[in-house]
Amino acid sequence: MLLAILLFAQTAILDNWRAEIEQLDHSKILIMKVTEDTPPPEDPGARAIITEVFRSPGFASQFSRAEAMSVTNGRYHFVLINPALTDESGYEAVLGHEFGHLWLKAQGYPSPVYQGGDAGCLAINSGDIVQHVLIRKQLDLRKISWRERWQQNLEKTAEQLEKTGTTQPAPPVCQRLAQIAMWVDVRLGIDPAQWKESDRFEKAMSESFPALRPAVDEIARTLAKQNLAEKAVHRRALEFTFNKLKFAGLEINRKHNETKTP
Ligand SMILES: [Zn+2]
Repeated sequence: MLLAILLFAQTAILDNWRAEIEQLDHSKILIMKVTEDTPPPEDPGARAIITEVFRSPGFASQFSRAEAMSVTNGRYHFVLINPALTDESGYEAVLGHEFGHLWLKAQGYPSPVYQGGDAGCLAINSGDIVQHVLIRKQLDLRKISWRERWQQNLEKTAEQLEKTGTTQPAPPVCQRLAQIAMWVDVRLGIDPAQWKESDRFEKAMSESFPALRPAVDEIARTLAKQNLAEKAVHRRALEFTFNKLKFAGLEINRKHNETKTP
């Protein structure tokens, strides 16, 4: 895996937010575009951290499906951008989103520990579900545009599912958990009255992934009632979401194994 540290033309809003985070937790934020054919970072410390992260089981495959991911060793925060899924027009939304994760971390919000493999997947998706509620609010407050791009992506997802959702083979459990997280994001992040494709998305998801729906319903219903900005509530919500996703993952594996047994 080869990397390049790039300088992005950032808006003043993002620059300010970045400085605010760096001040909050005395860190340095490095933004990197991860590609196959550019040299690794020159700083040996940074290179060692990134190499280790990409060696952890499952990380590279999760990253390949993400627009961006953040990793941190406390002193350095790396925002890793996946240019295969993000073009220049998406940088503001994508960087804003990742800064949101780092900003919560810098303020001491708990997040599940990343362990790699399926457990890492559980940690990432349960952390995402809960943190995204606060990040969406923060992006709106800071006037960073994100909603339009997100809704466009969701419309593409719905369109794709309408074509192949019911016929495609079930993906590995890790991707199923990411589907739950995306669905919960939509339930908690979009007012159906404000998005004309809302019913269409809901229908496409329900028809393609009926087995995931109970978990989505329960997580979304529960989190909608909570003030996740309060750290104690946030922590409990993380534990709740982690356990629900874990249960959903075990069910998915059990059903998968059942269908394999003659
Ligand atoms: Zn996120």
